[in-house]
Amino acid sequence: MTRADTGTRGVTVRVPAKVNVQLAVGAARPDGFHDLANVFLAVGLYDEVTAAPADELTITCSGPDAAQVPLDRGNLAARAALALAERYGIEPAVHLHIAKDIPVAGGMAGGSADGAAALLACDALWSTGASREELLEICAELGSDVPFSLIGGAALGTGRGELLTPVATGGTFHWVFALADGGLSTPVVFGEFDRLTAGTDLPVPAAAPALLDALASGDPAALAKTLSNDLQAAALSLRPSLAATLAAGTGAGALGALVSGSGPTTAFLVPDESTAHRVAAALTASGTCRTARTALSPAAGATVV
Ligand code: ATP
Repeated sequence: MTRADTGTRGVTVRVPAKVNVQLAVGAARPDGFHDLANVFLAVGLYDEVTAAPADELTITCSGPDAAQVPLDRGNLAARAALALAERYGIEPAVHLHIAKDIPVAGGMAGGSADGAAALLACDALWSTGASREELLEICAELGSDVPFSLIGGAALGTGRGELLTPVATGGTFHWVFALADGGLSTPVVFGEFDRLTAGTDLPVPAAAPALLDALASGDPAALAKTLSNDLQAAALSLRPSLAATLAAGTGAGALGALVSGSGPTTAFLVPDESTAHRVAAALTASGTCRTARTALSPAAGATVV
């Protein structure tokens, strides 16, 4: 591994985490993926990825969870740089630095966020002239959640989650996220979902009209009533202690609570900023999570800063 060219500042992209306000999961498809109806909301917890010229592709990471992030070509940021370089016939001579604040393996699409950010940063560094559509195509090849990390805001993902339709939001929603010790593997959680639902006739996943109306109205109480995650039972089965975290946040005044994506981060929708701080303090004091963070949604997608 070589060092980045520290004489060149490079391009930095800021990218948000996500929470799924609805995650409806259908039966496993022949290709192993599940059909989803996935309503994504980008939330204001951010990673920053900086791409700078270097002798070869190298990657570093800083932040509280940095030790859990792979620094080889399995890192989604590296895969994004390689995919863009290959498509445009460019030598992937770039150093990528990830300043990581999104929990790792937390169900908040941190790796996908870094993939989208690296793609945008390298695109700007190399002046490829790629269109938004071309970048979104590369994102979809990298992973189901990567296209949403690029666009941000709020969107409905169908297919395996990568076919996006923007969704209207009528205001700012306040969230508290309880971060757990250790991660949960997304494939393992889907495996547990398959085990728990074996022999059941699963409905075709679809976005709930009441949830879309609640997002459009900007009314957190209405949104809280419609939050749903079909992976929650599987995440709780693998990590039963999350039930106590959910109860602690709800008991402290959250309007609604759910496991974020495949977990183990839990998400609490609150009516306003002062409740957010109160719920975060109660969650931290409860001893049922590692720490709690407050954030606003919707947040903008990957952006050059
Ligand atoms: P999702 O919500 O999309 O299911 P997640 O938030 O649960 O994902 P990630 O933080 O994306 O999980 O990490 C999942 C795994 O991906 C990690 O355990 C790690 O091995 C790998 N990974 C690859 N690239 C990255 C990256 N840039 N940051 C974090 N993890 C990465």
